[in-house]
Amino acid sequence: MQGLMMDYPLTLRTVLDRANRLFPRRKLSTKIGASMHRYTYADFYDRVSKLANALARLGVQPGDRVATLAWNSYRHLELYFGIPCMGAVCHTLNLRLPPDQLIYIINHAEDKAICVDQSLLPLLEKISDHLKTVETIIVMADAPLQTTLTNAISYEELITGEQADFAWPELDERSAAAMCYTSGTTGNPKGVVYSHRSSYLHAVGACMTDSLGLSQNDIVMPVVPMFHVMAWGIPYAATFLGSEQVFPGPHLQPRDLADLIQNERVSLTAGVPTLWLGLFGLLEQERFDMSSLRVMIVGGSAAPRSMIENYQKKLGLRICHAWGMTETSPLGTVGNLKREVLEMPEDQQYAVRAKQGIPAPGIEVRAVDENGAEVAWDGKTMGELQVRGPWVASSYYNDPRSSASFVDGWFRTGDVVSFDEDGYMQIVDRTKDLVKSGGEWISTVELESVIMGHPGVLEAAVIAVPHAKWQERPLALVVARDKVAPPTKEAIYDHLAPHFAKWQLPDEILFVEAIPKTSVGKFDKKVVREQYKDYTLPE
Ligand code: AMP
Repeated sequence: MQGLMMDYPLTLRTVLDRANRLFPRRKLSTKIGASMHRYTYADFYDRVSKLANALARLGVQPGDRVATLAWNSYRHLELYFGIPCMGAVCHTLNLRLPPDQLIYIINHAEDKAICVDQSLLPLLEKISDHLKTVETIIVMADAPLQTTLTNAISYEELITGEQADFAWPELDERSAAAMCYTSGTTGNPKGVVYSHRSSYLHAVGACMTDSLGLSQNDIVMPVVPMFHVMAWGIPYAATFLGSEQVFPGPHLQPRDLADLIQNERVSLTAGVPTLWLGLFGLLEQERFDMSSLRVMIVGGSAAPRSMIENYQKKLGLRICHAWGMTETSPLGTVGNLKREVLEMPEDQQYAVRAKQGIPAPGIEVRAVDENGAEVAWDGKTMGELQVRGPWVASSYYNDPRSSASFVDGWFRTGDVVSFDEDGYMQIVDRTKDLVKSGGEWISTVELESVIMGHPGVLEAAVIAVPHAKWQERPLALVVARDKVAPPTKEAIYDHLAPHFAKWQLPDEILFVEAIPKTSVGKFDKKVVREQYKDYTLPE
């Protein structure tokens, strides 16, 4: 017997319409230089409609890729909706990628147009000769347009004469809405294509109380870039609910973030740990009013336990640790605490909060050993994480590497994890980052987390270096909080000793000025490994 419910298409148009109809006066605010640009969802809707008309006039067809190269802003949000709701595909480009990767991505996706922030135009001017499919460059400028590109037009001029009303097409929910390339560890980046359906369901999933738990009454500030996994889907979730949104633009220094949270009364924000480590340093020294903030969602790389504990104990701020990937939209697991955990002693609760959380409703997980057998959920046994669900990719875009990653309806993440009896997942490492010492594995993520718990340490990255006897051994690179009076090596070893067996400790600890970061603000282990590939460990 068939169910008798409507086959209602799950598309982003519903999300857009709802915000306009129910929350027209709610504010969207963007930091531009020293001031704030502000308008409402009603203004937003008008401009999204004008944009859709303008794209149609330019000849953008259903399924065409229209790229964005932009910071987090109200215009970027307009593109997030205008492009997919008129039937095209919003392809976010990572502005921190090296030119050769940007060229590869734009040509591989066959972008037809690129919408670029004026400040990022020089990036495009440098590579424009290599772009094979791009017909139009749309420049988002607050001042008159200045460029060497002959195919450039101004975003504002483009939309200005258009109707604030658009005949939105009835879209197939399975059609592509957006695309994003993985930030790439080896080889060329891989394209992930989100459908309307997956984006809609991901937004619903993100809003759930036991997930990221957004509310219509939140003031949401995605600090995670809109070019990194659609800012973790937060702009779609927040728009669906009609939450007010704050966009920091390129202003991501600790003081910018503290000012924005304080002045805009931000209640929910999200970003990678390095951002919040920096912010904590400032908040320790200066007073800001953070009382509006009810939760900070942290993911993208492991949030050190010390950071979670410091924010909570010293500032009364809750960090919610989450895990995800470009391929998973990205919501995978979220660190909300079960009642059983809340009944545990405080120390154990923090141990759970430092894990990456339990699978979000809708996401299925398993951890498997080398033979493909599922490992026990005992909090110890490690396996490769595999996931499946309605917002998990089923293949990469036009990429032969898909066959290695998508097997039997599961996506192989390449993350090594353990699950405890309660279902809390702990990321042990990326498969390729684990230190293989003798027959044993050492988790670089755990070592980093504990080293960063030393009060004198700002950042730490641990890598494997080749070793004649043990095959590989860990080397720790440490950035001291106070470079003039760094902690001693011995102090760091003493701090590590209670948490690790002796053979798991790094063979050497080196103090460095800075740790290289990836285009999305994670420690770039690939670069660090390259820098230390010939390093000889002390006897
Ligand atoms: P990306 O596709 O750039 O978002 O990167 C995804 C990868 O980031 C995952 O495969 C993990 O290795 C890592 N990652 C994401 N969130 C976390 C987290 N909370 N803790 C540790 N690693 C994480």
